[in-house]
Parts: sequence; structure tokens; C-alpha cells
Amino acid sequence: MKIKITSLSEGRHFYNFTESVEFLELPNEFFGNVHVNVLLEKTKDHILIKVSINANRHCECDRCLREYDRSFTNEYHMFYISDIQNKKLYNEDVVTVIRKDQDYIDISNDVREYILLSVPMKNLCKEDCQGLCPRCGSDLNFRQCICETEKVDPRWLALKGLLNNKSGN
Ligand SMILES: [Zn+2]
Ligand SMILES: [Zn+2]
Repeated sequence: MKIKITSLSEGRHFYNFTESVEFLELPNEFFGNVHVNVLLEKTKDHILIKVSINANRHCECDRCLREYDRSFTNEYHMFYISDIQNKKLYNEDVVTVIRKDQDYIDISNDVREYILLSVPMKNLCKEDCQGLCPRCGSDLNFRQCICETEKVDPRWLALKGLLNNKSGN
């Protein structure tokens, strides 16, 4: 994902990239193509790029263990400067120093990094996923198991106690 900057005029420029997850050397959980839109703004001091990334990931729900696929987006921006004296004027996380005679900027590594950063701490197939019953393992999104009934209905327990007593006599 290279942007040619030789003899680029000042002002705004737009770029689109599509590359496979293999090209970006992403882990196996990612699949398909990664789409990247870039808005580049060149001034006499710097080149600023605003990058929007779209990619796909195989996920496993933390609650019900179901596998599902999700498309997600992430965005970042980066300043490119060639005068290292000016580096302190920028937040160090979003500035890259390039050579004055550099022909292109390669955004592949940054795109890869921001895809990895977009992986959520929690994976849920849906916000209100009911998860699995801790006793019988039933997926509670699809059926209410009997374990839950026993736990919440004291009358059921009382009845069972009654039956047990009878059989004991
Ligand atoms: Zn789930
Ligand atoms: Zn159960």
C-alpha cells in the first residue's frame, strides 16, 4: 500500500487500496480483503493522511462459544515530515519522519497495526447473548434448560422434596 509522493502538488488527494489479509500478514482470525480509503492533505510543512480501514474477522463468542464473522472499521491519521527539527510540534504517536528525497510512503505496517488494535477485549455474538447454562451446557439463546427452572422455582423444589419423602416411607 504505497502512495507516490514525488512531485505531489499541495492540496487534497484521494486513494483507495484493496489488499488481502495474507498480503498484510495478518493472523488467521482475519479473512478476505482489507479495504483502505486515504485522504491526503499536503502543505509546505507536512503530508497528513486520514485513513479509514475496513476488514473482516472470524470471532468466537465469549458467552456461548458460537463462531461468527464480523466486518469492522478503524481509522487513524498520520503526519509525514521531512524536517526532523519540527518533530516536537506533533504528537509523537502520529508523526513519521521521512527523507526529503523519499519517493513514496508505505502505509502497510500502520494499517496492519490499526487492524490489530481494533480487536475488542470482549467478543459477543450479540449484545444480549444469554450464553451457555453452566450446568448442562445448553445454549440459552435457543432453549431454556430445566436447570434454570429448578433454580428459580422454589415450588418445584418443594414438590421434589415431598416426593422424596414419600418414597422414603
Ligand atoms: Zn453468544
Ligand atoms: Zn442447564
